[in-house]
Amino acid sequence: MKVLVINSGSSSLKYQLYDMTNESVLAKGLVERIGMDSSILTHKPTGGETITEVSEILEHNTAIRKVLDKLVHKEQGVLKSVTEIEAVGHRVVHGGEYFKESMIVDRVAKEKIRELIDLAPLHNPAAMMGINATEANMPGVAQVVVVDTAFHQTMPEKAYLYAIPRVLYNKYKVRRYGAHGTSHQYVSRIAAEFLKKPIKDLKIITCHIGNGGSLTAILNGISVDTSMGMTPLEGLMMGTRSGDLDPAIVPYVMNKEDLTVNEVNSMLNKHSGLLAISGISSDMREITDGRAAGDPNCTLAFDMYEYRLRKYIGAYAAAMNGVDVIVFTAGIGENSIIVREAVCENLTYLGVELDKSLNAIRNDDPRRISSSNSKVEVLVIPTNEELVIARDTYRLISGTQA
Ligand code: AMP
Repeated sequence: MKVLVINSGSSSLKYQLYDMTNESVLAKGLVERIGMDSSILTHKPTGGETITEVSEILEHNTAIRKVLDKLVHKEQGVLKSVTEIEAVGHRVVHGGEYFKESMIVDRVAKEKIRELIDLAPLHNPAAMMGINATEANMPGVAQVVVVDTAFHQTMPEKAYLYAIPRVLYNKYKVRRYGAHGTSHQYVSRIAAEFLKKPIKDLKIITCHIGNGGSLTAILNGISVDTSMGMTPLEGLMMGTRSGDLDPAIVPYVMNKEDLTVNEVNSMLNKHSGLLAISGISSDMREITDGRAAGDPNCTLAFDMYEYRLRKYIGAYAAAMNGVDVIVFTAGIGENSIIVREAVCENLTYLGVELDKSLNAIRNDDPRRISSSNSKVEVLVIPTNEELVIARDTYRLISGTQA
């Protein structure tokens, strides 16, 4: 079965085409600047050359049509006909309390995603555009939604409720939902397989640290707490997001600087984090380069990032009364030797002992970076959210267990 995985953003659309007989990627690509005058389509057939095309793509409908054209293109394509694609899997950012697992797209699922636009005003409309555009271009094709919040629906009330008047939960469902669930779930399963231990016997802390970042406490295989909140702003310091801060700062700054709700939202989501403290970049590579060159702002940004990350690891070890495994994943987790070393150096009280030579190895396989004496296994596991979406889509559509 061929499965197309689609990740729709408000002005972008990423795709990967899988052949599920061997889970191989046949082609992948990205449409950027949808709705703007010079949109860019980048298409990469596996083993072939990357093709980049600039044209006017005003909406997702046209974006998907162009992607399908590329997939069946005589020279650049990998399919004879679009009908070879039997199912499409979509990433959905916010599933509220309704989506506890991946689901086949039907009338009710679409209604629910629409209802949740209030909670994810930037992301869920994009997912709907992707679903509608798929329907328009591939009538009758089976569609599945894989929801980023679903894995965290197992959190107990004490972890997901905020200590604010209960009426706000009852009326508006103000609570912690978390994010990156697909990734946290995937790397925790791979960790258990790697260690050859049943996941039901493990206390795992997964650190998904990329441009956005979140930590999850996974006890006996289920998410019991996670650092992102009702929105992805809470928790760790991130590339451009502030992470945790005293909520009273918001009205104080709005008042002092005469800011609107949108302006303060933009400040906290787009102009804070590593970017604000370093003053130069939201990219960890530039921060570590600046730190190595002696830039004091980059050094501070790095130290704050590492300190806050380490505090969350401590908090989740406390939440689970211990930790057996710490997993690093996503752009920074998979690649930054320096961040991993700095974090682990200060976790000796938990029994963490890093093997510096293992930590310095670069490859794309799941690997151990802790020493054989370490009481806690520390692993680096590359995440693969697209593969999870393809697998869930395949499983739901074919009725088989992936
Ligand atoms: P992601 O959002 O998962 O794509 O991750 C993006 C983040 O990963 C950015 O902050 C990058 O600087 C960081 N990153 C990617 N490669 C490296 C690397 N080799 N060393 C340090 N950070 C990296």
